[in-house]
Amino acid sequence: MALRLYAATTSAGKLRDFRTAAQAHSVTIEPLPGIEKISAPEEDGDTFLANAATKAVHYSRFVPGELVVADDSGLEVDALGGAPGVRSARYAADAGLVDSPDANDNTDVWNNMLLLQKLDGIPAPLRTAHYHCSLVAARDGEIWQIADGMVEGEILEAPRGTGGFGYDPLFYLPDLGKTMAEIDLETKLSHSHRGRAIAALLPLLGA
Ligand code: IMP
Repeated sequence: MALRLYAATTSAGKLRDFRTAAQAHSVTIEPLPGIEKISAPEEDGDTFLANAATKAVHYSRFVPGELVVADDSGLEVDALGGAPGVRSARYAADAGLVDSPDANDNTDVWNNMLLLQKLDGIPAPLRTAHYHCSLVAARDGEIWQIADGMVEGEILEAPRGTGGFGYDPLFYLPDLGKTMAEIDLETKLSHSHRGRAIAALLPLLGA
């Protein structure tokens, strides 16, 4: 019987990633029922893992007996000392450039603009970065399994591509010669932090 996981995310981009990655396994991934009506926990951890654990544990209490998977992810830029890091979704909001920290297309545009501004004048060889994703599966308020994934890249000086979300148009993969916004979803998942974390997590869950 296929394993069923509930994804604790309201991000369409993340849900799409989860579902595409799960196709290679006998797993069905559903959005957590009614997640938009459940008050979200504070994501104030210092690490991706801490935030993912907070979310997975919190939301798993709303679906007794079910496995709930939550992720926390973001971009770490070497020249910026690892920023925006755990504040990736709220980078522009923290700087007072947008009101809402919720990730949407508008927030993404501001986050990308701020990133370009912070890296202004920094030459290509020093614009190295990576995406990091921590995944936690929890059941009935307890952590069940954890997994991590990373991908190395470089931050371009101007966006390229229309796919993906978040910082993808600026995140260049040297091996492919393309940004994350210029590759199809299957290719993205085989190279991305989230795809790698999902691929590491599913076998731990017996999938
Ligand atoms: P989270 O919802 O707290 O995990 O925030 C993740 C944030 O990191 C997103 O809002 C994006 O800004 C960024 N991010 C994480 N994963 C990706 C990705 O795959 N592509 C582009 N941006 C990402």
